[in-house]
Amino acid sequence: MFYRLKTDFRLSIITLLGASAILGITPFAVYRFLQGNLLAAVVDVVILAGIVGSVACAWVTGRTKRSGLFLAVMTSSSAVVVGALTGEPGLFWLFPCLVTSFFLASPRLAILINLSAISAMMAQTEIFRSLVQMWSFAAGAVVVSASAYVFAFRNESQRERLEHLATIDPLTGVRNRRSMDQELAWAVANADRSGGVYSIALLDIDHFKQINDRYGHGVGDSVLVEMVALIQQHTRRTDRLFRYGGEEFVLLLPDTCDEGLKTVLNNLQQVLRKYLRHPGGTVTASFGVAQLIKREDVDAWLGRADAALYQAKESGRDCIIYAQAPSEHTEKAASRAEYSLT
Ligand code: GH3
Ligand code: MG
Ligand code: MG
Repeated sequence: MFYRLKTDFRLSIITLLGASAILGITPFAVYRFLQGNLLAAVVDVVILAGIVGSVACAWVTGRTKRSGLFLAVMTSSSAVVVGALTGEPGLFWLFPCLVTSFFLASPRLAILINLSAISAMMAQTEIFRSLVQMWSFAAGAVVVSASAYVFAFRNESQRERLEHLATIDPLTGVRNRRSMDQELAWAVANADRSGGVYSIALLDIDHFKQINDRYGHGVGDSVLVEMVALIQQHTRRTDRLFRYGGEEFVLLLPDTCDEGLKTVLNNLQQVLRKYLRHPGGTVTASFGVAQLIKREDVDAWLGRADAALYQAKESGRDCIIYAQAPSEHTEKAASRAEYSLT
């Protein structure tokens, strides 16, 4: 739970707003009920139910965009309804809604929601004591919205930048190990929940140290960049490539098993043999492949791919080894499936 709150910004905002709204509105619902203002109490209860529903929906479905938009529309329109029912208090409730809408919905939609709510409030002229008060409210609401927009915009662009720096490998431009840990955890969770099929291929360049030693680190770097470009050109958009560390990469292949997996990886191996070069000749890579099995965790899954890669290196490099499930044969068994161009 804390992991999701930490990694999903919109979900954390939805949850925070949900909790604040529940704490803020519940006393009013009780107070209005005790006062005998049943209509206002029912409206408060409906608002609370809507907020709880959208927070729950965000947690269960993970569709935070939709829940956020719903929450922004619902809270702003609720403030307008409270204005219609109780007068001035509606104005005060609208201000936090104007601020939070920028954190819940896209900037354009938030502007639209805010302008609609401000106009709807102003249309109820009986709420205001004078024309001056009405225009003061309008000016204040627009200033608050504009400030919230600037703040939310800056916050979002800085968050994106930080996320980029934290998840992307600067040399090759592919996702780094930190990002890989997250995505493999998602894959395992998804496989447990809906039975998705996932495989990983651990790729390691053969004798890479020699390339660095003979031709320099710059050439080694270019080989890494070139290899990433080749892999991306010859895999699907849904396949994910991560830099595991040094000259090792992890390729996550969703919805690919058995024959499809062999076809993709054989093709990749041939592409690397053909096009990946250093000044003295060709560069090859070894592959350790493991298909996720039921109830397996990320460490065990990666461990099987790593053991298969180790076998590929032991078998003379430039080959693909497919790990078997632990139940088949012994724990560490890996089947050899060497593909050579003859
Ligand atoms: P093997 O075939 O067994 O995999 O041998 P290898 O030489 O590829 O493996 P080894 O682990 O001995 O060497 C990996 C080298 O990768 C050592 C390290 O200096 C180099 N390396 C790691 N990261 C980078 C990088 O970002 N750029 C460059 N140029 N070299 C790197
Ligand atoms: Mg290597
Ligand atoms: Mg290595």
